Amino acid sequence: MKKHVALTALLLLLTVSPLSAQDEERMTLLVDAETESYFRHIAEPLLKHMDLHSEEIRYHIVLSDQINAFVASARDVYFMTGLINKADNPDEVLGVLAHELGHMQGRHLFRAAVMQDEYKIPAILAGVLGAGAVIAGAPQAGGAILVGAQAAGVSNLLRFTRSQEQQADQIGLDTLLAAGYTPIGMESFFKKLRTDEVLYTKTPPSYLLTHPSPAQRQDFLANAVQQAEGKNLTHLPQAPFDRIKAKLYALSETPARVLRKYQHDKSFAGRYAVAIANARLAKFDDAMQDVNALMKEQPDDPYLYELKGQILQDIGSLDEALPLLEKALSYEPDMPLLRFEVGELLLQQDKVDEALPILQTVRNSMPDWARLHYLLGVAYGKKGLLSLSHLSLAESSLLQGLRDDAKYHVQLAEHYLDKKDTAAAEKLALMKEALESEKN
Ligand SMILES: [Zn+2]
Repeated sequence: MKKHVALTALLLLLTVSPLSAQDEERMTLLVDAETESYFRHIAEPLLKHMDLHSEEIRYHIVLSDQINAFVASARDVYFMTGLINKADNPDEVLGVLAHELGHMQGRHLFRAAVMQDEYKIPAILAGVLGAGAVIAGAPQAGGAILVGAQAAGVSNLLRFTRSQEQQADQIGLDTLLAAGYTPIGMESFFKKLRTDEVLYTKTPPSYLLTHPSPAQRQDFLANAVQQAEGKNLTHLPQAPFDRIKAKLYALSETPARVLRKYQHDKSFAGRYAVAIANARLAKFDDAMQDVNALMKEQPDDPYLYELKGQILQDIGSLDEALPLLEKALSYEPDMPLLRFEVGELLLQQDKVDEALPILQTVRNSMPDWARLHYLLGVAYGKKGLLSLSHLSLAESSLLQGLRDDAKYHVQLAEHYLDKKDTAAAEKLALMKEALESEKN
């Protein structure tokens, strides 16, 4: 079943009519294993008190100054970098996360889709998830890969009703308390947004556009904080959050701005940001010194291994980079992105037999990622498996919305097909079906 997931998503995308141009928005996703791992980690205790499956939920970062977060499917949560930047502590982010998971738990998206145009919504979601994704840049130091996605009118269409917002607040609050966390962050963040709204009436923070914020909500949360007083509720630790915040800043702002902000900041987070900025500026000697100093303090840190491995990769020392990326993966074997990086590096080194099974494993957890299918196409090609190669390239093209390219590769896949290869034949049939259904 699992291997057909990508194609199912494609079919959804292809059977809906294109949206009007005015609904189109460009969205750039910042794909970073460390950030995703952090969100998984802080969500885990909340999810134990909800009937959502933590292993199915994915956390995405959108490169944007907007102070916003949203859910876009039954398994995808999106945070704008602007929101994380605006948060002073992890309890505030946790409060927003609890609210967003509340929408999932309440199945609000499903209801919204039924109430509105049930065909339009899945198209938008598929777009957000990367079905229309284009790689904007090669992997860069710091672990981030920027992916441009066509996000059609998300902010307009994912607007929930006021009662759904209230329910998400209630579920979010109940979940925080059940998991033993203080609701103070949830209250202070929403209060902060209201203050902004009052100060900048012309352009209220976008979170308020998609999340109506009546004074009622403020009373509700203030009341919750009062009731929680005296209870022994925990705060999330500050340092890991500071580090994520600094990293996202270092990856999303210009290196010059990052250095201005952090060069005198001697905290771990500050020096981490400087290391990433130096790597982005191609000042590899400085970056390497920075990372080595950080590794002395935290020798078992997967993401320092990852960063050092990427710097070596950028320098061209692929043989030295490999054991570092493998080490990062050994600490975090459940992060498909780290596995992907190892597979990609092996392919760069022409070690196809080692790269192929790794990339195939990643496909199970990231079936809708165009770049992965592209690399699989390259790997199969190098092995002389031409039908499989063109099938993977066709899938990559389809995920990027390049249908003519996809058709071209499907034709070649058919040309090279070995009839005895039933797996390839089956995949080819599915791919043709996906292209066929587009005509209707
Ligand atoms: Zn909401």
